Formats: sequence, structure tokens, C-alpha cells
Amino acid sequence: MHETPADAGGPVTHLEPHSANNYHPLPVVIAEAEGTWVTDTEGRRYLDCLAGYSALNFGHRHPDLIAAAHAQLDRVTLTSRAFRHDRFADFTAAVARLTGMDVVLPMNTGAEAVETAIKLARRWGYRVKGVAAGQATIVVMDSNFHGRTTTIVGFSDDPVAHEDFGPFAPGFVRIPFGDAAALEAAIDDTTVAVLLEPIQGEAGIIVPPEGYLREVRRITHERGVLMIADEIQSGLGRTGTTFACDLEDVVPDVFVLGKALGGGVVPVSAVAARRELMDVFTPGSHGSTFGGNPLAAAVATEVVRLLETGVYQARGRELGDRLATRLRALPSSQVAEVRCIGLWAGVELVAPVARAVSEALMTRGVLAKDTHATTIRLAPPLTITAEEIDLLADALAAAIDEVLPVPAVTTG
Ligand SMILES: *Cc1c(COP(=O)(O)O)cnc(C)c1O
Repeated sequence: MHETPADAGGPVTHLEPHSANNYHPLPVVIAEAEGTWVTDTEGRRYLDCLAGYSALNFGHRHPDLIAAAHAQLDRVTLTSRAFRHDRFADFTAAVARLTGMDVVLPMNTGAEAVETAIKLARRWGYRVKGVAAGQATIVVMDSNFHGRTTTIVGFSDDPVAHEDFGPFAPGFVRIPFGDAAALEAAIDDTTVAVLLEPIQGEAGIIVPPEGYLREVRRITHERGVLMIADEIQSGLGRTGTTFACDLEDVVPDVFVLGKALGGGVVPVSAVAARRELMDVFTPGSHGSTFGGNPLAAAVATEVVRLLETGVYQARGRELGDRLATRLRALPSSQVAEVRCIGLWAGVELVAPVARAVSEALMTRGVLAKDTHATTIRLAPPLTITAEEIDLLADALAAAIDEVLPVPAVTTG
């Protein structure tokens, strides 16, 4: 079934007649934002509980990030990597420190960083592991989301993401997420890496069984395969830890970062790894005109400094507990499951009405977004307060009541 453009687009399409139809935004037009709040063109305020899909972990326009950006705008914004600039060493050192890795390769968007990790793994496979030319395979997970390039959508199992965009790049094997035995079975002499989100964000905050990440680490160690953790959405404080891998004390071979690394100010992504892995890249073999530019470097260095205070991870844990408690109190006649980890939640409704609930939430002054037909994804800024969590939970309960009325209890 193909949606017609009219079905796929909302009313906002008519307000933006020159926009491509590749999004279905909520009909709110934001003009300003500060902290956890955004203001629309009519002056109405909304609590932002999506936070740019986790790109705004520190809230809108965090004063330290804006100050870092302003200071850099007044000095130098772009050099290209043809020359060195004076913010690059501090930036790469900061990301290396945060990840515990030796070397950092900066890009701009998440998808580019994932592509970088794929190239790293393949080259390592041929040059170090000794995989036969052109045969390298990478194990990926069912219901993965790693971005929108043709290679990446080619190994997605979401038809909306990949249908009619082929032919696709070979060399990927997909297995069930959370199933360590399936991983054991999928690895052979051609396998160079396992690429996974430690917690699947776009799929609806899917948390694997306890011990799974440790099992992935054990298996990849034993079989001589790289473990690549795509922490673009799960990382940088979202789960109450710096990385979702920290929840199981696992250190992957390759970290892939993005979204919040740019502080909601500029797009910044990066791959971090040990020196001997990253050394497969030589001058000319990979790069990006904008990757690691002075403005991006200045903002991302400040992002790392904020994370190194530990304040945001602690907020993720403490306020995440409050969010989980409130969400788990929603009636089971409306909500089939709540998956909550840190300040990140997937609320699984009993019916495919997530879009209608998002719209009802919006009219109550809270912005969140459906992911798939039945799931509301919540990822508020880590700066959210306890009172704002209560406001979110009350508004969500009311919005669900409006869309999915609880059957009246008959008395007498
Ligand atoms: C958002 C996301 C990406 C893609 O990032 P873009 O900046 O949109 O290219 C990749 N992986 C994960 C896990 C993501 O959540």
C-alpha cells in the first residue's frame, strides 16, 4: 500500500508549499525556544518532550553552549581540514577522554558517522583480520535505525525507509535484536563487525534483555569481530549514564556519536576508536569538508565539559525514575507497555493511535512524537524539572483519555 502524498502530509504541508513531503510534522510552528520550552508564532508555549530526537539533551540554547558558539563565531568558523585550526586538538581530546578511546574522526551527521564506522570495519577486516577481498560482512539488528543513506537504508527492515530506493549495498546480515545465540550463529570467517544500537531508539526505546550487551562483547572478543555501538541517540546522558553501554560496563571497539554532541546548535558527529583500528584510514581515504570545523569543535568541546560534570547523567537517573513511576501508573486498558530507561521512554498504546495522542498532547502544551503507529516516544531535555515531568505525565494521561477513553465502569 502506498500512501498518497495527501495522506502522508499534514495540514502544515499547505503552509509550506515548497517543502518536500518527507516529514509529517505536528502542526506547530516554533519561533523561539529556551531550556525545555518552545514558543510558537502565536506566543503559545509548549514543553519540548522530544528534544530534537535527543539532539537537545542540554535543552534549547544552553547558555554555556551558546556562549561557546558566539565566541567562536567571532574568531573563525571554517578552515576545511586542508589546514589545521586551534580548536581541533581540544575537541578530539575531549571526545577521546569521554569515550576512553585514543582517536576521534569527526563528521557532521549521524548517518555519516555510521558510514565511517562501516568503512573502518571493512578496511580493518581486509587489512588486519585477513578477510578475502570484497567478502566482508557486518551483522546488524532487526528494527535497527542508523540513518538514511542508501547503504544504511539497504539493511533496514522498515519498508517505509527502504522501499524503492535499491539496489542496495551487499555485505550485511540481519539478526534478531537481543538474541545472543543468533549472533553466535551469524558470525563466520567473513564477519568483520557487529553494528548495533545498545538500546534501539527509533524502534521505540527497545531495551535488550539484561546481560545482552555483555554477551555481544564476549562473543565479538572471542570471534575476532569488532563491536560498533551506535550511541547517536542513546549516548551522552540520555540513559542516566554517559553511554548506554555503561549500563552493562561494556566498552565497544568503536563508538559512533552524533545528535547531542552538537549541543542542539550545530550538527556534529564522530567515530571514536583505539589508534590501531582508526589507523586503517590514511590521508585521502575518508573525510568531510565540514567535519570537525572550528564552530562544531568549540560547541562539542563544551558539550563534553557539561557531561564531565556528571550533572546530566544524574538528572537522567533521578528524573528518569520519576518519569518511569508516573508512566507505569497509566491504566493497562490504554497502555500495553512502558519501556523507560533514564529520561527516555517508549509508551506502547493498546491501539495504533500514537499520532492522534501526539496531537492531543500538543493541544495540552506538550510536544512529543509518535514512532510507528502504537508508540509515543518521550525524550525530554535532561534539564527538565520534577514539576515539568508531572506536567508531562498529567498531559499524557489526559491526551490518552481523550483518544482512548477508558470504558466506563458500570455500577449498580
Ligand atoms: C538519528 C540517528 C542516526 C542518524 O543521524 P542523522 O544525524 O539523522 O544522520 C543514526 N543512528 C541512530 C541510532 C540515530 O538515532
